[in-house]
Amino acid sequence: MVSPSLMWFRQDLRLADNAALTAAAAAGPVISLFILDDETPGEWRFGSASRWWLHRSLEALGTRLPLVLRRGRPEHVIGDVLALTGASSVHFTRDYAPWSGPLERRVKDACEGAGAACHRYAGFLLHEPEAIRNGAGDPYRVYTPFSKACFAAGEARPQKPVPEFAAWQGKIRSERLEDWGLLPVEPDWAAGFRDHWTPGEAGAEARLEAFIAQGLALYADERDRPDREATSRLSPHLHFGEVSPAQCWHAVRRAQFADPARLDRGAEKFLKELLWREFSYHLLHHWPSIPEKPFRPEFADFPWSGNPGALRAWQRGQTGYPIVDAGMRELWATGIMHNRVRMIAASFLIKDLLIPWQEGERWFWDTLVDADLASNAASWQWVAGSGADAAPYFRIFNPVLQGEKFDPRGDYVRRWVPELSRLPDPFIHRPWEAPQPVLAEAGVELGQNYPHPIVDHGQARDRALAAFQEIKGSA
Ligand code: FAD
Repeated sequence: MVSPSLMWFRQDLRLADNAALTAAAAAGPVISLFILDDETPGEWRFGSASRWWLHRSLEALGTRLPLVLRRGRPEHVIGDVLALTGASSVHFTRDYAPWSGPLERRVKDACEGAGAACHRYAGFLLHEPEAIRNGAGDPYRVYTPFSKACFAAGEARPQKPVPEFAAWQGKIRSERLEDWGLLPVEPDWAAGFRDHWTPGEAGAEARLEAFIAQGLALYADERDRPDREATSRLSPHLHFGEVSPAQCWHAVRRAQFADPARLDRGAEKFLKELLWREFSYHLLHHWPSIPEKPFRPEFADFPWSGNPGALRAWQRGQTGYPIVDAGMRELWATGIMHNRVRMIAASFLIKDLLIPWQEGERWFWDTLVDADLASNAASWQWVAGSGADAAPYFRIFNPVLQGEKFDPRGDYVRRWVPELSRLPDPFIHRPWEAPQPVLAEAGVELGQNYPHPIVDHGQARDRALAAFQEIKGSA
């Protein structure tokens, strides 16, 4: 009798283009295992919105193959499953979190202890972080040469089809997904998520197809507009590995080659954005402390001075700056926020409120469905000015001008801040400048149903620049 093979699903919750699953299927009848490990990642265990997504995604995967669910440390669970089933090989996709290298070594030891072969595969990224090096053989610290090196490395590797496989027919205990408590109980703050998302491989495929059909042609010109639907919204699907970056790459390239006149610019821009994801992982791999510590050490002495009340106002979308509040409320309602608004909201927290970027990073970690250790940390540090290749600290977003530029009619603000919806366009991003009769006509009572700005942006900007001067000497 052929002994079974064990497929350990991690952030690769798909059947197509999954090298680990393909190899497991070739090795024998497949035991499909997912382990909820809340111990190893410590404070970076899945946040609340990610847990909602994970539940739905596992539910979807469980309709495609019999899934064994276990909680605990992977090395213990895998050792246990090997002992119970006699599986002779274990297959999994590599992960890049700072704790994953040691974890994967412990899993290898557990496999060796049980006499099983242990195989690790690439698939979460286009390029392994060790593979892209500069002329001196060092990792890159700047995005543009990194992305050029990625393009020079060639097209994404070929995709693998869904493998033919036989599921193992033996008996093994599985925990019940419902018992994991991944979904919110009362109040169900995720009630609105269902209207926006279909977690799982089929949802990811549909999202990619829809983006290529409708968004890609607009992408180069409109990706910065939160009032338009020009971006892919693939980030949570990519994060959970319901689609691979190689699948996205090839799908976009196919469309581009079929209709270059219409799609060339959008495709090139989109592939560059996928490379920002790669760059974030490149940084995390080579500088694993970036989720906690500033990449530029002088920022460790930054004189932060924000207060908890201001942090709460930011989290709840009650800062009095409409574009910031719209973004924070979009985040709460849907688990996502448009990239441009993430930059504006993050800049506001760090520079207008002088609150450490790590506070914002943690809030995003808990509330984003695409919360991702590498992209979140690298992006927060980019906005803070403390990161590799970051925006300079003194570039401080003006939330009014940003709103007027990227949401010119105020449609995005009106959607997420309905108390301002009847304000005329010239005041939608600056309600405090509206004459009293205009406010009254629009039903806006500042300080009653919408806050006054919690800081004056001009003064806050001066304060931030003065704070920056304090560390600049040590830069
Ligand atoms: P698209 O514009 O369609 O881009 C396609 C894909 O490219 C995305 O799905 C994503 O995987 C990748 N990508 C695009 N922009 C970036 C970027 N700047 N950095 C890294 N990858 C990128 N992205 C996350 O996936 N998880 C996070 O936790 C996260 N936190 C962020 C925090 C802040 C403060 C900021 C400014 C950005 C953050 N981003 C994060 C990056 C970016 O905002 C999202 O990837 C993007 O908004 C996702 O929407 P989309 O899928 O429609 O993107």
